[in-house]
Amino acid sequence: LADKLQAITRKFGGKTRLTEQDIDGMMREIRLALLDADVSIQVVKDFIAEVKTKAHGQDVAESLSPGQQVVKIVRDNLVQVLGGSDNKLHYSSSTLTVIMLYGLQGSGKTSTAAKLALYLKKHGKNPLLCSVDTHRPAAALQLEVLAKSIAVPCFIQPEEKSAQAVARAALAKAAYLMSDVLIVDTAGRQVVDTELMAELQDIDKIVKPTERLLVVDAMLGQEAVKVWQAFDEAVGVSGFIMTKLDGDARGGAALSIHKLSGKDIKFITVGEKVDALQEFHPERLAERILGMGDVLSLIDKVTANIDQEKLKTTMSDLTKNQFTLVTMLAQLEQVKSMGSLKDIVGMLPGVNMAKIDDSKLNDRMIDYNIAIIRSMTMKERLNPSILDASRRKRIASGSGRSVTEINLLIKQYEQTAKLMKQFSLPKMAKHKKAKKA
Ligand code: GDP
Ligand code: MG
Repeated sequence: LADKLQAITRKFGGKTRLTEQDIDGMMREIRLALLDADVSIQVVKDFIAEVKTKAHGQDVAESLSPGQQVVKIVRDNLVQVLGGSDNKLHYSSSTLTVIMLYGLQGSGKTSTAAKLALYLKKHGKNPLLCSVDTHRPAAALQLEVLAKSIAVPCFIQPEEKSAQAVARAALAKAAYLMSDVLIVDTAGRQVVDTELMAELQDIDKIVKPTERLLVVDAMLGQEAVKVWQAFDEAVGVSGFIMTKLDGDARGGAALSIHKLSGKDIKFITVGEKVDALQEFHPERLAERILGMGDVLSLIDKVTANIDQEKLKTTMSDLTKNQFTLVTMLAQLEQVKSMGSLKDIVGMLPGVNMAKIDDSKLNDRMIDYNIAIIRSMTMKERLNPSILDASRRKRIASGSGRSVTEINLLIKQYEQTAKLMKQFSLPKMAKHKKAKKA
């Protein structure tokens, strides 16, 4: 799709006002993109109609081509639609908040329960996990293992046959442990069935949940709407958690269930590990659904913030095939001026933020590296090869970083320099040839 969008963007280049035809052409592609991402047809229709109205007769921003402008309108609108105002968890005003997780079997309830517990623990809560899945004793044990790994108490009764009884006992346990949040992991079925629903209704009456969260597998696609309807009818759904967004699914179902239910997505999960739960960010999902990184705002950011003079120095250094630590410092400063590293990387086309380990994108690393280079003499910056052990030690104490970090930076520098050389050598050869001719 990204390719298609680019082709359209080129086609409409050079105009200053969006015409009916421009918009129609773009809308066909956007429609396909949304359907391709598993958004339900009705929702697609409504969405396209909305965007069309907004795009109609709009002036094109100077920096954008009309095609880009439409993409921007689509993206912004999608963010707005996905956004909702109720993305946060609600807590009960009484002592105990009960969060009940529903969903089909395999949707990720049990692992999400543990992820949520860890999230709450990190946010200063004192959660208790509990499994009322009395149909599969293994399910309760699975939760217990996960709970142990995050050191959160877990209440299970593998021998008990009545889910209702377990629910009652779990409430007592929560009171005994003075827990402030009880997370209830429920049994799931392959398909929604009446027996399960009746049991859920009973449990619901016993624990009186503050949040009834439907756990939806992103790969479920259009089916998600039916699943929501069934659970909503039986027990009510106050919000969603979409799982497995680390996979290939584009997550269009999120748009459908959100639009049709009026309920918001509270969290997404992006992996099997217990820390793979993220708060919901509509921008990220919008871009994922459209299948594009936000190239536009990246362009905006780059042109707005890069110091043109500094850029020139960097570029001339690069073309002269001299990549020194002076160049690297200038680049680091440019990146810093563009804002959060996470935001920038998230805007690159083809980058799936869900797959990126946030901890590795540490903005402070940039600050540290800037500090390290600034602690070097000009001679050292221009000739990194003279950086022997005693110089590195001096730089470490000067910048307040460890020698290991200095070594790492120099290693990074050497790798980049090597790459630069590979890139620029053929170019120079060409240049010489051109001169001869
Ligand atoms: P339940 O039947 O609804 O309780 O589902 P489980 O929590 O047992 O999850 C089913 C499978 O999906 C397990 O193998 C989980 O590890 C896996 N799973 C859950 N959430 C995610 C996710 O966000 N990403 C990936 N890759 N796997 C997940
Ligand atoms: Mg389970």
